[in-house]
Amino acid sequence: HCALDWFQSRVDLFPEKKAVVDAKTNHTWTYKQLNERAERLAQYFIENDIQKGDRIALLASNHISYFDFIFACMKIGSVFVPLNWRLSIDELRYVIQDCSPKLIGIDPQFQGNLTQTEIDNILIEIDNNNYIDRLQTSSTLSEVHEPDETDALAMIYTGGTTGQPKGAVLSHRSILWNAMNTIISWNLTNEDITLTCLPMFHTGGLNALSLPLMLVGGKVVISPEFEASTAVNDLITYECTIVLCVPTMYHMMIRTKAFQQASFPKMKVFLSGGAPCPHDIYKAFREKGIPFKEGYGLTEAGPNNFYIDPADTEQKMGSVGKPMLFNDIKIITEKGGKVGGETVGELLIRGNHSFEYYWNKQEKTDQTIIDGWVHTGDLARQDEEGYVYIVGRKKDMIITGGENVYPLEIEHWLESNDNISEAAVLGLPDDKWGEIVVAFVVPTEKMTETELKIYCENKLTRYKVPRKFLLLEELPKTHVGKINKVVLKEKVMEMN
Ligand code: ATP
Repeated sequence: HCALDWFQSRVDLFPEKKAVVDAKTNHTWTYKQLNERAERLAQYFIENDIQKGDRIALLASNHISYFDFIFACMKIGSVFVPLNWRLSIDELRYVIQDCSPKLIGIDPQFQGNLTQTEIDNILIEIDNNNYIDRLQTSSTLSEVHEPDETDALAMIYTGGTTGQPKGAVLSHRSILWNAMNTIISWNLTNEDITLTCLPMFHTGGLNALSLPLMLVGGKVVISPEFEASTAVNDLITYECTIVLCVPTMYHMMIRTKAFQQASFPKMKVFLSGGAPCPHDIYKAFREKGIPFKEGYGLTEAGPNNFYIDPADTEQKMGSVGKPMLFNDIKIITEKGGKVGGETVGELLIRGNHSFEYYWNKQEKTDQTIIDGWVHTGDLARQDEEGYVYIVGRKKDMIITGGENVYPLEIEHWLESNDNISEAAVLGLPDDKWGEIVVAFVVPTEKMTETELKIYCENKLTRYKVPRKFLLLEELPKTHVGKINKVVLKEKVMEMN
């Protein structure tokens, strides 16, 4: 019925099983200890007048406190809001004003990011793993709240790739059903171990594998910061069986000596998500004979939505898979009808794992959830065997001379060139063509615009070949490591 029941049953079933490891200090907590920490914190919340529905924020790098806070919130019906420590002071102020937390847990290294106004809130200093022991409270929890399944449990702000981050409210039901979908479709068991090096303030770090593994009784190794060689070594040392990273992280990992020498005997699968995955990353894993799959998700739905049969990974490279068991999908045309064949349309997702609403943004909610379907704003196609391919974001599609151009197809082709490490394709407004195709390219070797043009002409239909190439040393990224097309769009507009 709710995520708390599942967590509680793991605690009762195997209290002494190791649940969480801090990769920095190597400290380990069992399920029983995790539960005791959550109860102590929940009691502290109660004694500080935290009511059902009150927001509790946390500004910290990846740390055991993320689990303390969310499990404590589960127990008393408050709402966990992880804050992105990479935000600028103004952005952070916007998010804090938006969610108005009654209490903030703060890692002292980010104290300077909070303004005087926010410091009026109740603060818990998260300076080390034992911060819980210092709380002035009785350790027994006086009351456990029985949530309704649609009550808010967490509010996760979206990546902000398309503008200001939006607080997506996830209920007890959303968190539980995402876990159920993931456990069943990805065959997670209590033997599974993951390394969480994606930021836990983001849905990818918190909700893709960390929470599902806590509900199935697995183990989560928390890495406080991402460094490519350390991540590779941690995956080996802790005998991880599954991991999720964004492509930028894999991009860095496959270039390390540690990766080139590693064999990952325990690893069932490496998963990529959050952004389109360049094909050279698939290639690097394939050459080592290691299973690698692409997943697709968003803060508002899942984040896990698809699975791939291991036997099909090679043949279906570039696909995110088939819909998970408790998850409906539909691909629709601009006018709302279902597309036929392999036509591209907007991807819609429906299931108990989706978010309930955007905090303080009713209009945005009404535009996004229509008749129970989450409109993802992403374009996709589905092959006749049911495999789905993400084609790009709807708002990134370029229309040139009346032809639809999906930047991702061109980006993948550019990135498959050994002399190019990253590429991003955008439309530049043009009086004659409506838009023309422009490519930002990060070369690893010196390349001229003519060479790039010839390379594209070898593969792409004429109207897809970029008219202009801009060579950069690196592409701007969002706070979660995705290519920031908003910044690139500004650069394109300056050219106009
Ligand atoms: P905002 O909604 O604030 O603009 P955001 O879209 O980055 O930010 P997230 O929820 O972090 O917010 O990211 C979800 C988006 O990431 C999806 O809508 C999709 O565009 C992109 N994405 C996720 N996985 C993939 C994938 N495998 N291939 C292509 N795009 C992906």
